[in-house]
Amino acid sequence: MQMRIGIGNDIHRLESGNGIRLGGLFIPCPFSCRARSDGDVLLHALTDAMLGALAEGDIGDRYPESAVRQGEDSRRFVLETLALLAARRARLVNIDCIIELERPRLAEWKEAIGQSLSDILSLPPDRIGVKAKTGEGLGPVGEGLAIAARAVALLSVEAPDA
Ligand code: MG
Repeated sequence: MQMRIGIGNDIHRLESGNGIRLGGLFIPCPFSCRARSDGDVLLHALTDAMLGALAEGDIGDRYPESAVRQGEDSRRFVLETLALLAARRARLVNIDCIIELERPRLAEWKEAIGQSLSDILSLPPDRIGVKAKTGEGLGPVGEGLAIAARAVALLSVEAPDA
């Protein structure tokens, strides 16, 4: 058994709208993400973390804009990456993530985001860390211009000849 770790991050510009998608969950608010896909920064960061753990490049390599439909559900990127993990005999052990957003405050949404991730990943909630931070008024997040996310993923991989 071999352990692998990967890291991912993402940022999207915010504009006025009717809500944002985070970890597959729709959160109504006066903003939306500017993105070709549904703009789910958390699933994008998580996809990159899983790809990184397998040294399989990044989400931009696998899903160039030309391969993404307008408003596409980002769960596809995660589910296809999970299939890649399975093909490589890798399993998710746990994930941890941080969402950075000035408003709305995500404290009341963290548990539901964790549950949504649990459903998408088929991973128990006690293996999923969800943390939310503001930008303390600083930088693009703090000024309310952007939403960002970071994620790490730990995998266990069956040794090829085990
Ligand atoms: Mg993105």
